[in-house]
Amino acid sequence: MTFDATRAAGRERLADFVPRAGRAYAAERNVDRGPNDRANVSTLSPWVRHRLITEREVVEAVLERHSLDAAGKFVQEVYWRTYWKGWLELRPSVWARCTAAIAPALEALSAAELATYEDAIAGRTGIEGFDDWARELVEYGYLHNHARMWFASIWIFTLRLPWQLGADFFLRHLLDGDPASNTLSWRWVAGLQTVGKTYLATAQNIDFATEGRFRPTGLAAEAVAVSDDAPVPPPAAPPVVVAPPRGRVALLLHEDDLHAESLAAQLETAGAEVVAVASPAAGEERSPIGMRGPLVAEFTAHALADGRDRAATAFGAPASALDGIRASALIEWARAHGATAIVTPHAPVGPARARLDEASAELAAEGLPLTMLLREWDATAWPHATRGFFPFRERIPALLRTQRIGRDGR
Ligand SMILES: Cc1cc2nc3c(=O)[nH]c(=O)nc-3n(C[C@H](O)[C@H](O)[C@H](O)COP(=O)(O)OP(=O)(O)OC[C@H]3O[C@@H](n4cnc5c(N)ncnc54)[C@H](O)[C@@H]3O)c2cc1C
Repeated sequence: MTFDATRAAGRERLADFVPRAGRAYAAERNVDRGPNDRANVSTLSPWVRHRLITEREVVEAVLERHSLDAAGKFVQEVYWRTYWKGWLELRPSVWARCTAAIAPALEALSAAELATYEDAIAGRTGIEGFDDWARELVEYGYLHNHARMWFASIWIFTLRLPWQLGADFFLRHLLDGDPASNTLSWRWVAGLQTVGKTYLATAQNIDFATEGRFRPTGLAAEAVAVSDDAPVPPPAAPPVVVAPPRGRVALLLHEDDLHAESLAAQLETAGAEVVAVASPAAGEERSPIGMRGPLVAEFTAHALADGRDRAATAFGAPASALDGIRASALIEWARAHGATAIVTPHAPVGPARARLDEASAELAAEGLPLTMLLREWDATAWPHATRGFFPFRERIPALLRTQRIGRDGR
């Protein structure tokens, strides 16, 4: 199982998967046959996470081939991603709190707990399956959804380690490592997301869903919800679509959205002329304790280069690789190309967004306003991420119709 960080490779994986996205996916998706057999799931998440391919085009391609009835489960899974992103966008402090808890949680571990933590991330706890998934994660940058659930459950309820450290380990090594899907899934397993509802991994379920590859012993027999967390704030107002400014704009790409070509219509309609394209050369550090996995560093850097080069070709503008998202570097770059404003795809809550937020006041003060372009996909769905997934799920057919996607939506 390999992941090439280009849009072309993502499109190829999508084309290969589409025939299997119907009822076969619904029936087979929960089985984890290991890294050498992933035909029952799409493995598209590393590309979708960086929007090398967009959620919209994934769902469009699937609904070109299957009815919503047949591919409903797959479409719903893609919308889980959208839901988590929207949920966190409306409650950014949940991400901030999780991030802020990581270094103190590590510091607070006793010597015995620290040894357990180190064994857990090195795959040497002696727990069958768990150790294999720890090593698989580092080797491939990908785990099956169920392996993620079992791993998180064993981490929290059997090894009794802080959930934030497990979430951090995942984020540093998953090629699809995503602040929203990862943090909120760990919270869900811990019983913080759906209050009081935890996920307990059992030997029987692991044995069944791995087709007998693993049957660990000694797992926790109960999962008591983690309770030491501040209450979730009420949802903030969702972001709204803001038109880009007219005239000469510099287009800044970041690791959360690398398909700028599909923003061309928004830019053209507003009369914005892209005169320069840039992205950072490397992805943002995902963890306050550093130690980003080498596969993640490599995948993200290649993805950024791929997105930047495609955008430069599409807009007929020169491409630059920046040191990072810093106001001084952005000002120098935009001015060198005579741009009067900077536009960037909307960055959801996470490390890239934090850098953009830091830079934006200084950019505005220098007469280079920064505008984030929100996609219709997010603008229509996120306002509904106010409660649980099930009321959100009810809206999927209407969301597809609003965006003219699929047979019902045309
Ligand atoms: C503890 C834990 C941590 C996770 N961390 C991440 C993460 O950092 N990044 C991430 O993208 N997903 C995360 N997930 C969700 C899910 O495991 C992955 O999205 C999925 O396994 C990716 O594999 P796939 O592309 O083969 O999925 P498929 O089954 O083929 O699904 C298609 C697409 O739907 C989306 N999707 C599927 N399941 C989920 C889900 N449960 N939540 C959100 N989106 C979903 C993904 O974009 C995926 O590419 C996590 C789940 C758990 C339980």
